[in-house]
Amino acid sequence: MSYQNFSNAQMQAMDAAHHLHPFTDHADLRAAGSRIITRADGAYVYDALGNEILDAMAGLWCVNAGYGRTELVEAARAQMEELPYYNSFFRCTTPTPVLLADRLARIAPEHINQVFYGSSGSEANDTALRLVRHYWALEGKPEKNIVISRDWAYHGSTIAATSLGGMAAMHGQLYGAVPNIRHVMCPYAFELAEPGESDHDFGLRAAKAVEDAILEAGPENVAAFIGEPIQGAGGVKIPPASYWPEIQRICEKYDVLLMLDEVITGYGRTGAWFAAQSMDISPDTITTAKGLTSGYQPLSALLVGDRIAKTLVDKGGEFFHGYTYSGHPVACAVALANLEIIEREGLIERVRDDTGPYLGEALSAGIGDHALVGEVRSFGLVAAIEIVWDRETRERFEPGGHAATVIRDHAIDNGIMMRAVMDTMILSPPLIWTRQTIDEAVDRIRSALDAAARELR
Ligand code: PMP
Repeated sequence: MSYQNFSNAQMQAMDAAHHLHPFTDHADLRAAGSRIITRADGAYVYDALGNEILDAMAGLWCVNAGYGRTELVEAARAQMEELPYYNSFFRCTTPTPVLLADRLARIAPEHINQVFYGSSGSEANDTALRLVRHYWALEGKPEKNIVISRDWAYHGSTIAATSLGGMAAMHGQLYGAVPNIRHVMCPYAFELAEPGESDHDFGLRAAKAVEDAILEAGPENVAAFIGEPIQGAGGVKIPPASYWPEIQRICEKYDVLLMLDEVITGYGRTGAWFAAQSMDISPDTITTAKGLTSGYQPLSALLVGDRIAKTLVDKGGEFFHGYTYSGHPVACAVALANLEIIEREGLIERVRDDTGPYLGEALSAGIGDHALVGEVRSFGLVAAIEIVWDRETRERFEPGGHAATVIRDHAIDNGIMMRAVMDTMILSPPLIWTRQTIDEAVDRIRSALDAAARELR
């Protein structure tokens, strides 16, 4: 049955009656009614009422290659016809996860050559947590199992991924986190740097919080540190350049594994295949999902470094972990075709050399002086706009989070989809955006800010 047999109002009524949305206040959603997105093309999505919206979030940070890619449709169709499903359990596999693993090993940092598949970023982080603890157990150090994470980290919504994450509101609903995970401050200079403290010094101080946590726990008890190179859902918090080299040094000093969560930053967003490469980080695991298939299929890949993989193979013994859809042949076929598009069209080089720098310049020039804007920052094609009541003092609007939500709603009315995280507006567009798309986006954002300013003041 096609949705086209139903009006928008009928669809909204069915949605309200039967569909529980993720991360949603259901009373609020029922009062407002959902926006039903029915189709998309290139950089734009369209709702059931016919509105065209420039998608500055690439869906949910994932549609890196943009919408309307018939090549990906064809890859899925061909694979479904030949072999829709078979598993990778009991000494079997299918061709596409093998080809994809080979491909991923070639684009990943040099010392990373193994892949464990799942269907979501959350699953991949569950895998990562179990794997690093399993690694230390195999190494004869099962007590080395504490993981250090950060406030405002987002690593997913399963119980383990929520426990790894540093979202206070999510922890409030956990009723028992996975044990032995500790959180430290995040490198968010806009709010946490002291007056007069340089970015460089603040980055070192934020890294020292990790060292302090390792020393407090005892390095012999610490398995790993986990972090997103740029904290995405926490508000596109971009660390100072001094942060990651210092984290790397600390992890090496105390023999603590380094786990990167590149679910957002992977597959081109920062102007390299992985932020590990654009920021020169050398991790033991890299969690990836989203842009791997540009969202056309659910798929995650935990990239596993040689150190961990060698122990798994050398020590042997079954790792009791995996999912029905680990290495799903259709999802992997789509991922292969997607990586091919990203490479063939030079999307990564475009972000690195052209649209990435241009996005930063255009945002600064277009809205950097707006009365509501306390800071704009970007790295590659991911950006944040800090919303303030007073540009000088950086005082926020009351209540926290309200102003950004007002701006988000005006943004959608002005034809651009952005997201609000507390008082920060965030953008993570498809990598197909051109300078022209960026100009159009900045115009729409400026109109939204103007409209919001009239409402808020
Ligand atoms: N890690 C990061 C950094 C993410 O941004 C997300 C999703 N936004 C996840 C993990 C979880 O991915 P998923 O929603 O696919 O489980």
